Amino acid sequence: STSTLGESVRPDFPILERRFGPHPLVYLDNAATAQKPRAVLDALVDYYSGLNSNIGRGYYRLSMAATDAYEAARETVRRAINAEHADEVVFTAGTTAAINLLADTFGRSVLTAGDRIVVTGMEHNSNMLPWRRLCETTGAELVVVPVGAAGRVELERFTAALDPGVRLAAVAHVSNVLGTVNPVREMIRAAHGHGIPVVVDGAQAVPHRPVDVRDLDADFYCFSGHKIYGPMGIGVLYGKRELLSRLAPYQVGGGTVKGVTLEEPVAYVPVPARLEAGTPHVAGSVGLAAAFDYVEDLGWDVVRRHDDLLVGAAVEALESVARVRIIGDPAAEPSGIVSFVVDGIHPYDVGGHLDGHGVAVRSGVHCANVFIDTFGEVGTVRLSFAVYNTEAEIDLVRRALTTVRPGFWTAEYPTERFLATD
Ligand code: PMP
Repeated sequence: STSTLGESVRPDFPILERRFGPHPLVYLDNAATAQKPRAVLDALVDYYSGLNSNIGRGYYRLSMAATDAYEAARETVRRAINAEHADEVVFTAGTTAAINLLADTFGRSVLTAGDRIVVTGMEHNSNMLPWRRLCETTGAELVVVPVGAAGRVELERFTAALDPGVRLAAVAHVSNVLGTVNPVREMIRAAHGHGIPVVVDGAQAVPHRPVDVRDLDADFYCFSGHKIYGPMGIGVLYGKRELLSRLAPYQVGGGTVKGVTLEEPVAYVPVPARLEAGTPHVAGSVGLAAAFDYVEDLGWDVVRRHDDLLVGAAVEALESVARVRIIGDPAAEPSGIVSFVVDGIHPYDVGGHLDGHGVAVRSGVHCANVFIDTFGEVGTVRLSFAVYNTEAEIDLVRRALTTVRPGFWTAEYPTERFLATD
């Protein structure tokens, strides 16, 4: 079967007109960041051209209109992830910012020395290091649930880690390395059975599936706007109202207080404003809302089918190339990512070779050093798809891979250095 989505939406994305020498851009690094459709670019320009002013503070019409746009964007996000209340949606700078906020507020409030936090062995550093640092400063212990052979967290192993000392769990919804989907709904149910709240890193899930935070029963759910065709610098922390409303301020400053005197304790405003100190990225929130509108207009069913088709085509193409080895089992439950290695050739050299053909892919450890180590590889080459990718692009990758040769990195293999810096 074929999908016509890729070709039909390409004109919506101005950057796809770029060329590198004789080659058109084949952008397959969407898990790092997705390109932006004109609808999102227009939303940013329109905001700055017609509405720009600071929000929540000005008793004039322009400021009130900007405030309305910001709150309308919050409502769009609420609807997109099926949160119950708009005030359960906190705007952050991204997933990393949201998880750091949680570690510093929620995490700190529930942990004491000897307690445990459970994460999985597939976490991105952004859902690993904030918890690890919190453990170091509180005397708590970080428990890492190992990932199974298919690159997925097995429910039994996760459940086995939920002993009475565990105060919270933080898990990826979808792996940014392999695209494997964890059984988060079941993991959350298991954790709740022990009274343990769960933070979900949804950075790679939200671009590929309609996420329903209430169906998942997630206590907290974090994602970035830029991976779902929205602007950089805007992201979301969803939290259940009863949990979120108990969080102490993270950063303090403008926009977080009811009033300040030098004598009395500071009285903070309710969430979400309490957790959004300083001038927020209003244009970004408007752009993110436009991005959700864009995907919903295409239709999630269409997007999912296109995703599955591209993953299937990529698996087939890669299997036909000598020395290529796919990591994990992307066809089992595809989520827009296929990771592979070319035996005997460093992933950086494969990436550089593909760049010579105009193909942009990520190669290396993908900010998931611990996960990559479990495969015994120095890194992988990652194809990650978006709505504008086509089967013709995958065929171009296949053809380019037939001529890849060992290069600089293959010869050097300075393992320590690249593991440390990706
Ligand atoms: N978690 C996962 C699973 C990711 O893929 C990423 C982005 N690579 C992040 C967290 C961090 O997102 P951001 O850089 O937008 O904060």
